[in-house]
Amino acid sequence: MSTRSDRIVVVGAGQSGVEAAAALRMAGSGAPITILGDESKAPYSRPPLSKGILTGGAQLSEIALRADDFYAREGIDLQLGRAVADIDAAGRTVRLDDGDRIPYESLIVATGSKARMLPNPELRGATNVLTLRTIDDTLRLQQFLRPGARAAIIGGGYIGLEIASAAHRAGVETTILEAADRVLERVTSAPVSEFFQRIHRKEGVDVRTGARIAGFRTDAHGDVAAVLLDDAPAFEVDFVLVGIGAAPNVELAERAGAFVDDGIIVDAHLRSSLPGVYAIGDVSRHPCPQHGGLRRLESAPNASEQARHVARSILGDKTPHSALPWFWSDQYDLKLQSVGLSATADTVVVRPHPGQDRKLEVFYLKASKLIAADIVGAPGDFALSRKLVESKTVLDMDALADPDVPLRSFLAVRSTV
Ligand code: FAD
Repeated sequence: MSTRSDRIVVVGAGQSGVEAAAALRMAGSGAPITILGDESKAPYSRPPLSKGILTGGAQLSEIALRADDFYAREGIDLQLGRAVADIDAAGRTVRLDDGDRIPYESLIVATGSKARMLPNPELRGATNVLTLRTIDDTLRLQQFLRPGARAAIIGGGYIGLEIASAAHRAGVETTILEAADRVLERVTSAPVSEFFQRIHRKEGVDVRTGARIAGFRTDAHGDVAAVLLDDAPAFEVDFVLVGIGAAPNVELAERAGAFVDDGIIVDAHLRSSLPGVYAIGDVSRHPCPQHGGLRRLESAPNASEQARHVARSILGDKTPHSALPWFWSDQYDLKLQSVGLSATADTVVVRPHPGQDRKLEVFYLKASKLIAADIVGAPGDFALSRKLVESKTVLDMDALADPDVPLRSFLAVRSTV
């Protein structure tokens, strides 16, 4: 039995959940707030797991999302190691896996996503096949990063490439196996893929695109000893890292009757189809103000931005959600920064930088307006690109492709139009 409550319950103590609770307090909400997280660790930021934490350049103590005393200070009831098993949408109550029930007025589903695994049955008992999503995954992976170890990284997405860079730096003989014709195919353009393929190969990583995995040979313990390929000799490995993307944790919302389709479908106020139930972060699929349709973003800035937006929505603000997406990735000494969504571009312009083979600037235009940019090694130009994308600036393609024309001048031109 549940009693009506003014409590706001957040399911998931990751980036979006914690930041939503913090944003509610910042915006002056005095409602009781409970965060329920199934992990036992204090809430932490995930991006460093495949970067500084993995390379040893950062400490676990540095990645806490908030100081330990933050939650008590803000009157936020943080319950860790507590998994929500069911949402009773009609009764506005969540049920935990130990049977406890907590009533809510508003529920924020911030359950994130999980790493996808290959379906091969021979991998089931293997202890040397890894994915990376949590602190424990990183600590486990670190144990395999030894000089001379041999790794197959399956999937050339951002996480696979970041792990390849960390593994290679640790002295691991690293092979990336990407099924598509280029790395990062799902998320960016050919010039960006070619840039990172070149960088990784130059560092000494074996990058194989169009790779066809036929299966895995396991040893007497059930661990993977070799990767079998359709069109190339098998090669021996000490461990396999599977980086083939993530699936949103929609099961709770789906069982409760919410509309779900590769994410929990929400409106421009981040409300799901269930009354009083919102969804944010990796798990939410929301209207795309830039290009229409629905989109689901797996990025830290999206998690933070939606957290702030859901707090405003719950407190009655009717402004629709419309943030410009941005993202970053660190590999070796390089930082890629991306803004906007490039998929609908009709023109791609690569700004040449002769003699600077670790710098890249790729711009995406639609009907001559800048809609997205991928920038490596030029943070100042990234900041300018962001402004140009935000203001949907019409750009001259020839001038954009001329490195002697400073990006700043496009802003100046725009302001005089
Ligand atoms: P999460 O941070 O995943 O939090 C969801 C939480 O909910 C988890 O703790 C989960 O265990 C918990 N949960 C799930 N189900 C339940 C339940 N039933 N009951 C209770 N709790 C539950 N983004 C970038 O922009 N740049 C990067 O460089 C970058 N690097 C990344 C590197 C790695 C290795 C990973 C894994 C992600 C990276 N990301 C990066 C993505 C970014 O971290 C995510 O987009 C962000 O964490 C999403 O936040 P979230 O709150 O939606 O989900």
